[in-house]
Amino acid sequence: MFDKVLIANRGEIALRILRACKEMGISTVAVHSQVDRDLKHVRLADEAVCIGPNPSTQSYLNIPAIISAMEITDAVAVHPGYGFLAENADFAEQVQKSGFTFIGPDADVIRLMGDKVSAIAAMKKAGVPTVPGSDGPLPANGERCLEIARKIGYPVIIKAAAGGGGRGMRVVHTEAALLNAISVTKSEAGAAFGDSTVYMEKFLQNPRHVEIQVMSDGQGNAIHLGDRDCSLQRRHQKVLEEAPAPGIPDNVRQDVYQACVQACIDIGYRGAGTFEFLYEDERFYFIEMNTRIQVEHPVTEMVTGVDLIKEQIRVCAGQKLSLKQEDIVIRGHAFECRINAEDPKTFFPSPGRVNNFHAPGGLGVRVDSHVYSGYTVPPNYDSMIAKVITHAESREAALARMRVALSELIVDGIKTNVPLQQDLVTDAAFAQGGVNIHYLEKKLGL
Ligand code: ADP
Repeated sequence: MFDKVLIANRGEIALRILRACKEMGISTVAVHSQVDRDLKHVRLADEAVCIGPNPSTQSYLNIPAIISAMEITDAVAVHPGYGFLAENADFAEQVQKSGFTFIGPDADVIRLMGDKVSAIAAMKKAGVPTVPGSDGPLPANGERCLEIARKIGYPVIIKAAAGGGGRGMRVVHTEAALLNAISVTKSEAGAAFGDSTVYMEKFLQNPRHVEIQVMSDGQGNAIHLGDRDCSLQRRHQKVLEEAPAPGIPDNVRQDVYQACVQACIDIGYRGAGTFEFLYEDERFYFIEMNTRIQVEHPVTEMVTGVDLIKEQIRVCAGQKLSLKQEDIVIRGHAFECRINAEDPKTFFPSPGRVNNFHAPGGLGVRVDSHVYSGYTVPPNYDSMIAKVITHAESREAALARMRVALSELIVDGIKTNVPLQQDLVTDAAFAQGGVNIHYLEKKLGL
């Protein structure tokens, strides 16, 4: 096992990783920007290194500074968390070349999955269901693009192979608009991602977002840990998640689980990963794989009882998976509300000093947050300040528990999206289960 791990992240996930390391007897190094010296995990880490000024590009994305911090502190491995460098293949490669371990898959696996065209091809090969589409980059020949679209049937979506974060996509409803949409998406993709490769998929009109958690040791062993529904999104940002996804026939989910496990073995996947799908009319359609731990991993931890971060660290330290598929039993239901420092009406960020912070508690209530009374939320980074997670024997009971938990939460001094979350957990359609990815924006009148 690693002696010392450097945590290349901030906020709640840095604290989550720190806790897992401490429980495992691993020494910890926190790295932080200037404004972040008062972060909770920085205070709790064995060592802390300031790696640069506040802009992420000069700190949390500053690869030479992070590798230098590893050298100075004798850390042997780095946990990237999510966001920042978590899916940066060049970072993973440089970490490895410098003689350290990246807690995640190999750089070439990150690269394979980071390019959506190669990811989809690899998934198809493993038997993972994908969206009907161009099966590769769109050709330069316009007539051939029109033919592909005719075969798929409108509406179609043009997507950048290198796209991410909901950017680099365009929906096309009519043949007349296709060629122009392709050329605009291509030039945007070139400018934004340095790669103008685009592909085409059928545009699914009312899907849900359902994703599957996997863990794999890169030594031929892989398991799935069930699914999550993350359909409540605003501008492709997830707002409220749950596990398991409600109302999916068991045979349909078992088939896709098997395919995901097979895909992990086929690509030599190591670590925690998520296969993201659109789900419509009892069918799964793969859209992308996230080669990292995700924000919403706690709902899976609650229903499986598995500590995903610890298991991720173990397999990336070269150990075999400590769990077999039959060890994974889904018990009850869990929800996660993301609490953001933002105006609940305008969604503008609302940084500032939190005068008073009180987290809810009790049976089946978990709060992952780096915030404490007197902490100042800086304007420089993501606005998420806490995750409130509830678990109970049934979906209904977990939702009731969330309503109570949110009513106890106090974040005084800044604006938060708690009113929005309270609205969602009392929403009749959401209580029924299975709303689609457009539900939240429609409800908000967007
Ligand atoms: P990103 O990497 O930018 O998150 P994804 O491929 O995961 O891109 O797609 C982001 C979102 O775009 C999806 O969650 C979904 O809302 C929408 N989307 C992507 N592909 C399709 C599709 N074929 N049909 C309908 N919606 C889609």
